[in-house]
Amino acid sequence: MAQFKIKDYAKIIRPQNFDELQLLAERVRGKTLKMVNSTAVGGGVAEILSRFIPLINELGVITKWEVIKGSGAFFGVTKAFHNALHGSKVDVYGQMFEIFRENNEENRRNMTFDEDFVVIHDPQPAGLIESKKKSKTKWVWRCHIDLSNPQPEIWNFLKGYVSKYDGSIFSTPWFAKELPIPQYFIFPAIDPLSEKNKDLTPSEVDKILRKYNIDRSRPIVTQISRFDRLKDPVGVIKAYKLAKKHTDCQLVLAGGSASDDPEGAEVLEEVKNEAGNDPDIHILSLPPFADLEINALQRASTIVMQKSLREGFGLTVTEALWKGKPVIASAIGGITLQVIHNFTGLLVHSVEGAAYQIRYLLNNPQVAERLGRYGKEQVREKFLITRILRNYLLLLIALDHPNENIIQL
Ligand code: UDP
Repeated sequence: MAQFKIKDYAKIIRPQNFDELQLLAERVRGKTLKMVNSTAVGGGVAEILSRFIPLINELGVITKWEVIKGSGAFFGVTKAFHNALHGSKVDVYGQMFEIFRENNEENRRNMTFDEDFVVIHDPQPAGLIESKKKSKTKWVWRCHIDLSNPQPEIWNFLKGYVSKYDGSIFSTPWFAKELPIPQYFIFPAIDPLSEKNKDLTPSEVDKILRKYNIDRSRPIVTQISRFDRLKDPVGVIKAYKLAKKHTDCQLVLAGGSASDDPEGAEVLEEVKNEAGNDPDIHILSLPPFADLEINALQRASTIVMQKSLREGFGLTVTEALWKGKPVIASAIGGITLQVIHNFTGLLVHSVEGAAYQIRYLLNNPQVAERLGRYGKEQVREKFLITRILRNYLLLLIALDHPNENIIQL
């Protein structure tokens, strides 16, 4: 994969935003940082880290990325935690907390933490905080999920760990919980130069669509997501079926699974059952690193859907908006930061609402074009990876001056 340099972003973002990165980087050059999460591929966190780490290194913060290991039982537990923290009801059983604790302990024994800053992503590796010593290392817990309405038993368990960190990061203030530690807010973002988001020529897009036998002469409605119930792929099929009664279109549901998500295969089966034998429904089970394919599918789409039932942020929405696509998405979680109804996309609350908006956009291409155009400009301002770099540089500077109310930059 081509690795881009900071200077390559100068032609995409505003000059003052670009210059600011260099100025901030001066203040933390040579510091060391470690990022830890639970999967190297699949899902939004791995996506962001894979792009962020080379760039922050180039800016002079010496940064490593490590991924914890875990048994099937552990990832079963953390998936249940994930669902419960997002607000779904899950059964809590006796061994759950022990499995979590043991797996974190096992990882802890095999890892060292002597960097200036350690950032632990999401609940899975949260227990690594037990390695915090009375050293200079500053520990931050980065939460990518919506914690506004978690199942209390699970949150209370996790909070025991989280409270020991020096600080926390949430995607928006709405997702945060009351904590005895400082909270910082960083929206996720995408890399406009990655394989997944870079410009493609029409013939590159055609080639990939041909590979999947998708007809480019008819409208294409797409949802790209892991096969996860919270992404509601079955709801997308229902909405498509309702819309299709009146307006011709095809549906593409494309996704793989993440190595920390054991439910994928089961959900894929449910999706196939709902699709039946409709030749216009294309269910694509993508391998890891299908970035070019995802890019082409998003670019070839007439409409991009994100009908999630819960969503931390929804990077797939940003990806589609950056490609100038009209997005129809559920009015939940971080999606509402990105989709401003009737301005940068359309928000829906039900299968019927989604079906109605599919028909509306297919019949009003000028509205679809306008939504996509405004959506793209919003991403340029707020949701590109250079803005995350800026946020992290500021955060590291702040952590480096713990007892100062005013920091001269
Ligand atoms: N993605 C991928 N392959 C897939 C499905 C999704 O690479 O089969 C990517 C998708 O393009 C996006 C990220 O994984 O970059 C998903 O992030 P999002 O925030 O939408 O959802 P999450 O999976 O983290 O809940």
